[in-house]
Amino acid sequence: MGLKVVKFGGSSLADAGQLKKVRDIVMSDGDRRFVVPSAPGKRFPEDIKITDSLYKANALALEGRDISPVFDRIEERFLDIAARLGLSVDVKKHLDKVRADIVAGAGAQYAASRGEYLNGLLLADYLGFEFVDPAGMILFDENGRFLSEKTNDAVASLLMDKKNAVIPGFYGSYPDGSIRTFSRGGSDITGAIVARGLNADLYENWTDVSGFLVADPRIVDSPAPIKTISYMELRELSYMGATVLHEDAIFPVSRANIPINIRNTNRPDDDGTMIVSRKPAADGTNPVTGIAGKKGFTVITISKAMMNAEVGLARRMLSALEKYEVCFEHMPTGIDTISLVVADNQIEGKKEKIIAEIMEQCRPDTIEIVEDLALIATVGHGMVSTRGTASRVFDALARENINIRMIDQGSSELNIIIGVDNENFREAVRAIYREFFLG
Ligand code: ASP
Repeated sequence: MGLKVVKFGGSSLADAGQLKKVRDIVMSDGDRRFVVPSAPGKRFPEDIKITDSLYKANALALEGRDISPVFDRIEERFLDIAARLGLSVDVKKHLDKVRADIVAGAGAQYAASRGEYLNGLLLADYLGFEFVDPAGMILFDENGRFLSEKTNDAVASLLMDKKNAVIPGFYGSYPDGSIRTFSRGGSDITGAIVARGLNADLYENWTDVSGFLVADPRIVDSPAPIKTISYMELRELSYMGATVLHEDAIFPVSRANIPINIRNTNRPDDDGTMIVSRKPAADGTNPVTGIAGKKGFTVITISKAMMNAEVGLARRMLSALEKYEVCFEHMPTGIDTISLVVADNQIEGKKEKIIAEIMEQCRPDTIEIVEDLALIATVGHGMVSTRGTASRVFDALARENINIRMIDQGSSELNIIIGVDNENFREAVRAIYREFFLG
């Protein structure tokens, strides 16, 4: 027997029909003993997530306005689920308290967390599982920093002996007991924390897609799902825009070597994607696991004769970014050139000042700014052991007449990053996809 922690996302719990699917999934496997729910999400594309409505209700309360137009809708959704499933929990009583607390100024984090809290109460009743409030177990310091080791001990001691439990996602508490939420999508993190604390055999993350896809389905036609991916590959792909899982959800489980299985509540027979610490050695058929990319980058390049002999130049160039609190993505260098790739949203409104600072600090011969660049990451552990992967990427782009503006391959050989003009972004992703996944 193994132990599974199962997290269900908002769309998996959006209405009574979805909760039925969730119960079938949990009941079909006795190892699924610890369940972490999100708040009810969207039932249809124009629908409003409960969490968004709770933030709205709180904003109204802050302005001293009546919260009922928003809170009544929240109440209806929870009461509807409880009625349709014939639940015995007195959800109205809890809703009344939440309403009063929000009006009394309990604050945004408290308000937002109540979606998970109320949903947890419903689900615990429906499954016949114990309800365990994560406040007092998932711990933050007074500055809101997550206390991972204290939390890990608390999770282990509070949950280890339980037969089963429902633990609402998304929040924990400050030392004074008040509620602290994670960033949006944070129930994924709660699931990972609970899995680590219990030393689970598997963390199942149930959502509305059958795992990660090898490329963005809005760009390429029906890309295949990724069967197995390593935590490191996933980080590279998520960073470049492939979002299914909150990025902070990877650390607690990767550290404890617990695999994550992304599954689809609406297609429970699909295997989904397994995220593991070490992928089985590449079988030689495809060195690439996935492709992801983003538009909107700028490259700042300085050149200076004899740069290679000048000590501290890179540091001075970077200090200009530091001064204006800008992170950079990549830093390709040549003998007499250094380039910094930065996201446009990082340097918005600060570009002129940063350039002036670099001129002052580095006194380069020239400085060149290339704007409107897109970055595409071709990711896979298999690249290390397969010759010619980079040339296949470049050939695929050359065949489509796409000009490569920048190349960066990390020393881990997990990743080849190329920069192309924003306008070539979609075509470039398609070209690389065709090369490695079609034909
Ligand atoms: N309900 C929260 C949100 O909408 C957290 C989550 O769903 O993971 O962001």
